[in-house]
Amino acid sequence: MNYDKIIEKLKNGEIKLYEVEKYSSSNKEAIDIRRTFIEEITRSKLDKIDDYTIDMESASKKNIENPIGAVQIPVGIAGPLKINGDYANDEFYIPLATSEGALVASVNRGCSTITEVGGVNTKIIDDKMTRAPVIKTKSVPEAIEIKKWFEEKFQQLKKIAESTTNHGKLLKIDPILIVGNYVYPRFVYSTGDSMGMNMVTIATEKILDMLLNEKDAHLIALSGNVCVDKKPSGINMIEGRGKTVSADVCIPREIVKKKLKTTATDIVEVNIAKNLLGSAVANSMGFNAHYANMIGALFLATGQDVAHISEGSLGITTAEDRNGDLYFSVNMPDLPIATIGGGTSLDTANECLNILGVTGSGNVKKFAEITIATVLAGELSLIGALATGHLAKAHKDLGRA
Ligand code: NAP
Repeated sequence: MNYDKIIEKLKNGEIKLYEVEKYSSSNKEAIDIRRTFIEEITRSKLDKIDDYTIDMESASKKNIENPIGAVQIPVGIAGPLKINGDYANDEFYIPLATSEGALVASVNRGCSTITEVGGVNTKIIDDKMTRAPVIKTKSVPEAIEIKKWFEEKFQQLKKIAESTTNHGKLLKIDPILIVGNYVYPRFVYSTGDSMGMNMVTIATEKILDMLLNEKDAHLIALSGNVCVDKKPSGINMIEGRGKTVSADVCIPREIVKKKLKTTATDIVEVNIAKNLLGSAVANSMGFNAHYANMIGALFLATGQDVAHISEGSLGITTAEDRNGDLYFSVNMPDLPIATIGGGTSLDTANECLNILGVTGSGNVKKFAEITIATVLAGELSLIGALATGHLAKAHKDLGRA
């Protein structure tokens, strides 16, 4: 069918948006037709959305439905950032995609401070991905029976789950929560270099098929929100999800003064008053200044699932004055991240992962260490800026009063 005819049929509802590929001669033509249709019915001009470089044919297969083009976000570079990790041990240039002016400059200042003092230490404390369905039984005793079924059959269930994947491993089912007649088993997997959400969902579904065959129970939802996917949560703060990572650095007093224009004492005061007390009084779950800024920019640049910024930016910043030197750490319990799968194969994402030397298999832990190091650079710089400006003024004003 020709171009104009398909647009006409889209307009009168004879063809649905998702059916355009079926009637088009190529993937590119389908994208153009759908975009032209939207331009015409919304009287908008979409020349810039049309001007993209990524391979949309490949993206259409697994990353996007009803494509009309691509949006672009500027990418800046911060660095070099020296990292002394178990997996990332070098100087890195960090690609950050953002439209927030000053972010890259601020992270860059943090990188420069860290690199001058010999680098940031990074550690991966835990590594897992979770899926927790909700199952309905008739009563509390029956719910407890289902819990026992999971516990007793664990080895068999592990085999079944792992038959669906080459890289996923079922580590445990823990906790198995019961609320009345509902059961929430939290399946915990390792997922290699992928973030793992599809992988663990497919594996868990297979286990549930067996449960429903053997037991009088109903699956209410494959995700019962105890996972907890794409939402900040206490269970992820405590148990961890994705990569659980920490980074720290000690900065001599003269470098704190030279690079951050402040002192360890003032940085510690900002951290306590803002990140710890302020967050506590507000009942906020993020005891940090702005992890989401660095996570968001790095996730966008490297093709991560951006909805994971909501849980990925949980974490606690600590700061100590050690005789004038500054000890500073960032701690992230819930960093879902990948170098394989999802959006990581999109052309621009792949190029950004390449800048970091973390494309493909065997690199996700290195990438996680680079991510936490970048978060430390940005957090240090902002807390330093707050300490310089606002605290200095407060000292002056309050000192006078
Ligand atoms: P995926 O792209 O669905 O799966 C990863 C694939 O890479 C698997 O086929 C895996 O094979 C293969 N693979 C090859 N080398 C690997 C290696 N070294 N390590 C790990 N896997 C390797 O990605 P995913 O991480 O499971 O899921 C990510 C996607 O899930 C994102 O697009 C995200 O938006 C989406 N998502 C899904 C849900 C959901 O509930 N389904 C929720 C949130 C997000 P094997 O399986 O054979 O090992």
